[in-house]
Amino acid sequence: MTSIRELHKQLVRKERSAVEIAQETLERINTLEPKLHSFLHIMADEALAQAQQVDAQIAAGETISPLAGVPIAIKDNLCTTGIPTTGGSRILENFVPPYESTVTQKLKDAGAVIVGKTNLDEFAMGSSTENSGYGRTCNPWDLDRVPGGSSGGSAAAVAARQCAVALGSDTGGSIRQPAALCGVVGMKPTYGLVSRYGLMAYASSLDQIGPFGRSVEDAAILLGAIAGHDPKDSTSLNVQIPDYAKLLRPNFRPKSRLRIGIIKETFGSGLETVVEDAVKKALELLQELGAEIQVISCPRFGYGLPAYYIIAPSEASANLARYDAVKYGIRAEDADNLIEMYKTTRAQGFGTEVKRRIMLGTYALSAGYYDAYYLKAQKVRTLIKQDFDAAFEKVDILVCPTSPTTAFKAGEKTDDPLAMYLSDLMTIPVNLAGLPGISIPCGFDSQGLPIGMQLISKVLREDLLFQVAHAYEQSTEWHLQTPPLV
Ligand code: GLN
Repeated sequence: MTSIRELHKQLVRKERSAVEIAQETLERINTLEPKLHSFLHIMADEALAQAQQVDAQIAAGETISPLAGVPIAIKDNLCTTGIPTTGGSRILENFVPPYESTVTQKLKDAGAVIVGKTNLDEFAMGSSTENSGYGRTCNPWDLDRVPGGSSGGSAAAVAARQCAVALGSDTGGSIRQPAALCGVVGMKPTYGLVSRYGLMAYASSLDQIGPFGRSVEDAAILLGAIAGHDPKDSTSLNVQIPDYAKLLRPNFRPKSRLRIGIIKETFGSGLETVVEDAVKKALELLQELGAEIQVISCPRFGYGLPAYYIIAPSEASANLARYDAVKYGIRAEDADNLIEMYKTTRAQGFGTEVKRRIMLGTYALSAGYYDAYYLKAQKVRTLIKQDFDAAFEKVDILVCPTSPTTAFKAGEKTDDPLAMYLSDLMTIPVNLAGLPGISIPCGFDSQGLPIGMQLISKVLREDLLFQVAHAYEQSTEWHLQTPPLV
């Protein structure tokens, strides 16, 4: 599967039709699905119909947008009218949304060809896609390993060339961590840059939708297409969206010397040596490219994880109260009264991790514990943000590993929630502070598993993140490697 820019060229030069591209992509999806299970729902008919429209536009001599005819996969917690949308949960097994999320509407308007809905941890809670109510997704680099999560289906689909690009959502790392584990690019934008309308709410003060791509440029094009103010999301920012992709060409040369800070606290215990070495090598390269590197301390970085596991479950316990089987979703039939019906439905419909989060959140919000847990966690959140603010007085970009380890074996952490939570140690603080972060490939371990590096900037400096990530990418070949099964 080629880049967005290449696909666009092929289409306008009439070397390939959108229908041909869609057909090839769908064939590839069907061939690989038995091995990978990246998708929960394949949208063959809709994809071909959209592709036909794009071909008709080209035939009529109309100008098409860069995303027209480009095969794209959508995480299944984004609502799509008339298409089953489960959020990876059995409780929404039969749910077909009557409305469209803003991001998918924008993609459709741009002529993008949505090929299917991708697998995820139930309601985006997890780091391995093993919490899906519909079976796990395999990592294309090693089928015995997890693709990361919760947007594991989207990351695996992009890595395995089952689509050109994909959308995910990121509350604590769910785009960046699977991007790292699958060897692709993944970005979590500034909180509020992309409308959350039509995204199933997990932790509303942290959730953001963002792009996956096999190159920084593809991710930049996709973000440009989905970002922007939306009156349907009250937290949506009303700001001008730069043409991110245009800023990447010709090769970026910063006006002043770029200052990069390496976050001291992320190089502690639990970090695999091979990951540490790869990120340090990447920093040397960035230095060669002209950046000035310094070590930066974010003293409260490590408290991100405990604060997140109070705040996110608290918000989740409120957000998930709507799944009561009254308006939509499955309903337990064996109950005598309304309360019994709620209880049995929720007991049967939710998976273990989701129940754990609802209980944690309800506890943290309950009278008597609210101040001790929830309020305290919110104060810690402010301190973490202050550390970032202080760091960005000294540097333009912060760098750290995306995930402490490469892809782990399926089943390895399922019985140990804490071990699983630790996967997001380095991505969570970025959500708590509302900042943008991007994960890009920066190496492989001895088993051929990809390693990811995270770049973080001030709010609304996605342009800078893309430029620096692009400059690094263009000097390396990590992103050009393909998984063995491809
Ligand atoms: N793994 C984290 C969690 O389980 C983050 C998930 C996410 O970003 N959606 O909450």
